[in-house]
Amino acid sequence: MDRYSKIDPDSIGFDIDCVVADTMEAFIRLALDDYGIAIQPEDITIYEVEKCLAVDPRIIGEIFSRLLDAPVENGLQPMADAVEVLTALSGLAPLTFITARPVREPIDRWLAQVLPGPVYNSSRLVAMGNHDGKAAYIRKLGLHYFIDDRLATCVELAGAGFSPIVFEQPWNRGQHAFASVDSWRGIKKRIICHEFDS
Ligand SMILES: [Mg+2]
Repeated sequence: MDRYSKIDPDSIGFDIDCVVADTMEAFIRLALDDYGIAIQPEDITIYEVEKCLAVDPRIIGEIFSRLLDAPVENGLQPMADAVEVLTALSGLAPLTFITARPVREPIDRWLAQVLPGPVYNSSRLVAMGNHDGKAAYIRKLGLHYFIDDRLATCVELAGAGFSPIVFEQPWNRGQHAFASVDSWRGIKKRIICHEFDS
C-alpha cells in the first residue's frame, strides 16, 4: 500500500479552479456564447492558456476576470460529483480550500452557493493572490496532501516534502510522474476509499 492509498481526511486540501470548480467548462462556454470563439478542451494544452490558444489575450483576460470577480453570476459549476464527495468528506474532517485567486469574497460566495450549509460552514478557504507559495499555507494549515491541476504547484509541494496529487486536465495529462486522479469518483475511491466501503 503506497502513501496515497489511505489518506487521513484531516491531512488533505483542495485547489478550487479546475479541481472543485469546472472553470474550463465556464471558460469555453463564455468564449463561445459571448465572443463567438469555439474552443475544445483538448486545445488547452498549457496551463497559461494564452500560450496555446489563438485567441486575443485581452479576451482571455476578460473571461478570466469575469470568472474571478463573478463566478456565481457567470454560471461556474462544480465538477461532477465534487459536492457529493466533499459533503461526505466534511463529515470526517473540515474541508480546506487553497486558491491562487487574488480576491476571496466572490469564490467564497460561490462555495456558499454550491455546498450544503453545514459543509460550507465547517470549511476553510484561503485566497493567496499568487500562483506560487501554496506550500507555506499547506504547512501552516497542517496538511500533507493537496489536489491541484497546476503542475508547477505540484512540483513546489513535492519539493517542500508534501504529497501533491494531480487532478488530470488536458494541460497536465502525460506531463508528470505524480500521483493523479481524473474525477471526484477517483478521489473518493483512491484517497478515501477506506472511509467509504459501501
Ligand atoms: Mg486550479
